[in-house]
Amino acid sequence: MSNCMVTIKDLRKRFGDLEVLKGVNMEVKKGEVVVILGPSGSGKSTILRCINRLEEPTSGQIIIDDIEVTNPRTDINKVRQRVGMVFQQFNLFPHMTALQNITLAPMKVQKKSKQEAEKIGLELLKKVGLLDKANSYPMQLSGGQQQRVAIARALAMRPDVMLFDEVTSALDPELVKEVLDVMKNLAMDGMTMIVVTHEMNFAKEVGDRIILIDGGVIVEENTPDQFFTNPQHERTKRFLNMIK
Ligand code: ADP
Ligand code: MG
Repeated sequence: MSNCMVTIKDLRKRFGDLEVLKGVNMEVKKGEVVVILGPSGSGKSTILRCINRLEEPTSGQIIIDDIEVTNPRTDINKVRQRVGMVFQQFNLFPHMTALQNITLAPMKVQKKSKQEAEKIGLELLKKVGLLDKANSYPMQLSGGQQQRVAIARALAMRPDVMLFDEVTSALDPELVKEVLDVMKNLAMDGMTMIVVTHEMNFAKEVGDRIILIDGGVIVEENTPDQFFTNPQHERTKRFLNMIK
């Protein structure tokens, strides 16, 4: 058993003539929180989307725990059950309550009974601080509450790793903290996480490791402390100056 949850080897992705990922290598250990920073268009989302093959890598290897995601013989639906993903857009089903959104996949995909799925669902709603909203519909919830339901929904499949793609970028500023707090608690519970974000305080406080990506390559990889106080590369210094 390796202590690596996600291994990415020489990942390349091109869209037509555009090479978006130019050989990305990355390892995420079990329980580790890796934060990916980088300017818009640098390939951050593409990396996350390749991990559960929402995008088909052009070449390279991705391994989750002991499953080779990029092996064509691998059942990708099995992989996706082990990888939770939360996006900028919450994508909750509007005609379903918070609890129904959460219990859907456990019942449909994992064939859990309604009772069992609801037990897990209510536990998770409690975990994200929304037990009292179990029967609310998405339009009755704030953006921050919807995003917390989306996190609970992803957790309902009991994933081994969670991918977060700018999950607070569409939120009003006053709603950002409640979502980051949920993610922070998840990290403290030992969840393995890859987080694309522009929230530098979160990166500093919760990240075990920071990766800066630009133009489809990893520019710098370091501990938050080193990354923010003692960046090794000119490109990192420019990035940090830009966001100051
Ligand atoms: P980031 O998340 O860092 O902003 P993305 O991974 O979304 O960057 O995109 C990286 C580059 O790939 C951008 O130039 C983007 O326009 C391009 N791209 C992303 N998805 C597609 C696609 N499906 N087809 C063509 N180009 C794409
Ligand atoms: Mg993106």
